[in-house]
Amino acid sequence: MNETEKTELKLYNTYTRQKEVFVPIRPDLVTLYTCGLTVYNYAHIGNLRTYIFEDVLKRVLFYNGYKVKHVMNITDIGHLTSDADEGEDKMVLSAKKEKKTVWEIAEYYTKAFENDLKKLNIIFPDYHIKASEQIPQMIKLIQRLEEKGYTYFRNGNVYFDISKFPNYGKLARLDMDKLRAGARVAVDKSKKNPLDFVLWFTKSKFEDQEMKWDSPWGKGYPGWHIECSAISMHYLGEQFDIHCGGIDHIPVHHTNEIAQSEAATGKKWVNYWMHGEFLIFNREKMSKSKGEFLTLDLLNKKGYSPMVYRYFCLGAHYRQQISFSYEALETAKSSYNRLRNKIMEIKSNKEQSKPNEEFVKTIKHNFLERINDDLNMPEALAVLWKVLRTDKIGNKEKYDLIVEFDKIFGLLLERGEELLSAVAKQKVDTELIEKLVKERYEARERKDWTKSDKIRERLIRMGIEVRDTSKGTIWKVKE
Ligand code: AMP
Ligand code: ZN
Repeated sequence: MNETEKTELKLYNTYTRQKEVFVPIRPDLVTLYTCGLTVYNYAHIGNLRTYIFEDVLKRVLFYNGYKVKHVMNITDIGHLTSDADEGEDKMVLSAKKEKKTVWEIAEYYTKAFENDLKKLNIIFPDYHIKASEQIPQMIKLIQRLEEKGYTYFRNGNVYFDISKFPNYGKLARLDMDKLRAGARVAVDKSKKNPLDFVLWFTKSKFEDQEMKWDSPWGKGYPGWHIECSAISMHYLGEQFDIHCGGIDHIPVHHTNEIAQSEAATGKKWVNYWMHGEFLIFNREKMSKSKGEFLTLDLLNKKGYSPMVYRYFCLGAHYRQQISFSYEALETAKSSYNRLRNKIMEIKSNKEQSKPNEEFVKTIKHNFLERINDDLNMPEALAVLWKVLRTDKIGNKEKYDLIVEFDKIFGLLLERGEELLSAVAKQKVDTELIEKLVKERYEARERKDWTKSDKIRERLIRMGIEVRDTSKGTIWKVKE
């Protein structure tokens, strides 16, 4: 915890539809699971909005003094074109279209996604796990459900029987009576109830599915939902603190995850459910399957760096929809540039000091209150702007506050624009460069010219130019 007075962290829990004081199961460690990307295509900027929200959550947890154990899956198997069990396998469709194997598709788009996370300065999960590598854990979980009588086997598939789980649909507040009265007919005639879902498919569904494993029910592959239950329980235990995703996951994916997890263990599974609202484009949810979708690289090519996109996302609360347009992004770009210029100005004259303990304490407290109020980023950004504009403190104090607040924003605020474009081009390892620049500076201070020249040569080989000025060493990526 910072020296600032403690303020309770409140998070909105979709399960109770309320903001609640956050109390983790273990006092010092938060266990967090976030649903990962289905890697049949690039992440679109809507997906990335959700990963930015989850990154902010993690940073707020760190800021509150918690350690975080974060697990995210990589869906490379079993996700059909509908979130339920209808349609074709997304990975198989993509492989056919691109004339590659599903494994190649998964590998390629997983790398692309991880690069996007890097460019957006998103802190990596501690475990980023491919569903296809956790099949034994999934089979075990399905067997557990089978032993307890929650499943049935029909026409080659294992189904979860929702009628056996009385709490089904609580998260989404599904009105089961209404649903029953409406008697939606399942396309899959093997289902007893249209909302039953597949735990394990055998070849009966897709003859040409490449990814197949032996199982007690025949050679086949898992349904989509079981991976998140199996992976999270394997890495975080049978009960954990926070589970996140976009709001589209509430009615089917997370509803089914809860049913199968709690049925298997007989215990409450997750304490806090958090969901990010959609990014809307042309009045529709941005989605990979329909309409035009935009990627981070496309925005970058049009002159909007990943940090501009991150700033754009922080401008709205995660539970509000954001409507994407290039005009709105342009506004974010000019605010972000103004912010950066102001910070560069402060940074270039950061010896100038005007201590004011009371002001610093109050502003830090305000900041903490905003971020702890269910991650209110728009208001936290307003606090940052207040710091930049005030004359109650000097540049030194402002600079320290900017560095501190940027632990939450993750906007690389006190670093150079060159760095941003270099990060965007993924050519540089910024931590390594800053370490080398510092070592070189120290060598020069000691007048160890041999060492300082050696480091300079190494930086040049890495494509980095260094310049020594009266204010210290400046570095940039060579054009
Ligand atoms: P998927 O690859 O479809 O499993 O989606 C990955 C993540 O992005 C999930 O958490 C989704 O809920 C989220 N997501 C999908 N579309 C959008 C959107 N338009 N806006 C925000 N989040 C989204
Ligand atoms: Zn999931």
